[in-house]
Amino acid sequence: MTVCIARGDGWVCEREAKTKGFCSGHYQQVFRKKPLAPLKGEHGAPAEESVHKAVRYPKSDAEAIAALAKARDLDEAVLYREAVAQYLRREKPGQDGG
Ligand SMILES: [Zn+2]
Repeated sequence: MTVCIARGDGWVCEREAKTKGFCSGHYQQVFRKKPLAPLKGEHGAPAEESVHKAVRYPKSDAEAIAALAKARDLDEAVLYREAVAQYLRREKPGQDGG
């Protein structure tokens, strides 16, 4: 097989080259004009630091979050992260001085 030509600082890709010398994952990065980065996962999805979870909550809560985000000129995601962090502090008291 031909090996993907993507490589960077301290890493080389060892996946099979499929398109224009790149594996499918790195070809996606090139195609999307993203910087080449090591791939993780069996399907070659780019490594992500965050985890996406689908959460169900009432529409009124979603609207309240959206309104708060707008009032504070923040991305809604920031508020969701804040809410999760607050919840975790409550579940594990003493880790944040309180
Ligand atoms: Zn590759």
